[in-house]
Amino acid sequence: MNRISHWIDGKVVEGTSGRSGVVFDPATGQQQSAVDLASSAEVDHAVAVALSAFPAWRATNLSRRAEVMFHMRELVDANRKEIATLLTKEHGKVLGDALGEVARGLENIEFACGIPNLMKGGYSEQASTGVDVYSIKQPLGVVAGITPFNFPAMVPMWMFANALACGNTFVLKPSEKDPSASMFIGELLKQAGLPDGCFNVVNGDKVAVDRLLEHPDVQAVSFVGSTPIARYIYETGTKNGKRVQALGGAKNHMLVLADADLDMAADAAVSAAYGSAGERCMAVSVVLASEAIADDLVAKIKDRIPAIKVGPASEDGSEMGPLITGEHRDKVKGYVDGAPGEGATVVVDGTVGVPTTGFFLNPSLIDNVTPGMKCYDDEIFGPVLTVSRVHGYDDGVALINSNQYGNGTAIFTRDGGAARQFEFDVQVGMVGVNVPVPVPVSYYSFGGWKNSLFGDTHIYGPEGVNFYTRTKVVTKRWPDPRTSKVDLGFPQNR
Ligand code: NAD
Repeated sequence: MNRISHWIDGKVVEGTSGRSGVVFDPATGQQQSAVDLASSAEVDHAVAVALSAFPAWRATNLSRRAEVMFHMRELVDANRKEIATLLTKEHGKVLGDALGEVARGLENIEFACGIPNLMKGGYSEQASTGVDVYSIKQPLGVVAGITPFNFPAMVPMWMFANALACGNTFVLKPSEKDPSASMFIGELLKQAGLPDGCFNVVNGDKVAVDRLLEHPDVQAVSFVGSTPIARYIYETGTKNGKRVQALGGAKNHMLVLADADLDMAADAAVSAAYGSAGERCMAVSVVLASEAIADDLVAKIKDRIPAIKVGPASEDGSEMGPLITGEHRDKVKGYVDGAPGEGATVVVDGTVGVPTTGFFLNPSLIDNVTPGMKCYDDEIFGPVLTVSRVHGYDDGVALINSNQYGNGTAIFTRDGGAARQFEFDVQVGMVGVNVPVPVPVSYYSFGGWKNSLFGDTHIYGPEGVNFYTRTKVVTKRWPDPRTSKVDLGFPQNR
């Protein structure tokens, strides 16, 4: 059985806890690897290594830190296929989707290449007579990242690129369901010239997470995952004095107004709902269809579903792979099975005719869904698209704004005024106008509102640099001996 251990101090370190987790091949349903699950003592070792690497890395000049990021950029670019193959093997997403994940992750490394510019402070000459004031950004120390199963390469890149470029050292706790991409990233960072100990991977579960949350030498924690765990991470981490950004789950609504191009809206809804088998925090999971066009839109979505090729990544032409585990597949299936009993209409039942091996489901479409039904209230995180019918703009926005989540949303319309009003009104962190999956480019920051984010700082981009640095303000005077005198008054600027 293939064994996946930890990456500490620039090398693979075998786990000693005696505990391990199962890594499945979701396309076959069989176990393919055992992953070591770290004990608290193993986490302590990784943090101690990161702490001892910090002073030298922090003192490494900005040009050199940028150079390491440039090398890493080249290495990830050259190894796109290798990384994507690891993703398809453990996550199950098809190769094209996995390559897309690597490409979007790479943008974050490219952003971090500009670190000399990003770390600039401010300067005020002659703030008082002969006195200059300036601010500088300094790294925090050892910072930790805890990541979900659905983007095993991109989400770590959201974190470590800026964290390392800012001069921090990093301990990553990836999802135990698909940990291999993180191990490979460790190797690539070493090849890129990152000194040993600056980037470490501890594989594990709640034991490792809890130790990171309480460890006195961990200064900050970035988390991406489900809302209940995000809330727990935020509450526990901040209670222990850490800076925390914890991104949670989502329920992303796509509002289709009556004037929208319905073929374009149907293409977008199908792509955004079923891509990556719906296991994306920015997936469209609810279409809000204006009454006047709802029947047409549902018919157009339904027509497109049979053409989606569901199958393993290894099979030519597969567009949608399996779900991550059998347990998760059964949970998703439960929402489709339960929908008719709640009064909804199952238009396409994706629980039938699925491949007999692996954790597959076909795409499902459920119409006439209203708040209060489980398939509306919960984040399903699978290939299930629900449709709720709304009277029009006001009704749609009210529904979006009353949802507990606020990660992403989109409006489909040809009315520029309505689109602008939507941007103004909607209580969601990332908004698309005729764009169904509005993941910001790496020089903006990513983050939701409400129960989709705990903490004040969005992840990556400029807010990522702020998260991984703290500011110091220096007030400096080099006195002119000719003007020196004793003055017991309180320093004033005028
Ligand atoms: P998860 O919350 O189950 O796990 C995320 C991480 O937390 C993993 O590393 C896991 O080991 C750890 N963890 C799990 N249970 C824990 C516990 N009880 N105590 C401490 N740590 C624990 O999430 P997942 O199933 O891996 O990922 C899917 C979820 O992530 C979805 O809800 C999705 O919306 C969300 N997500 C959000 C974003 C975003 O940017 N907002 C991005 C990707 C995924």
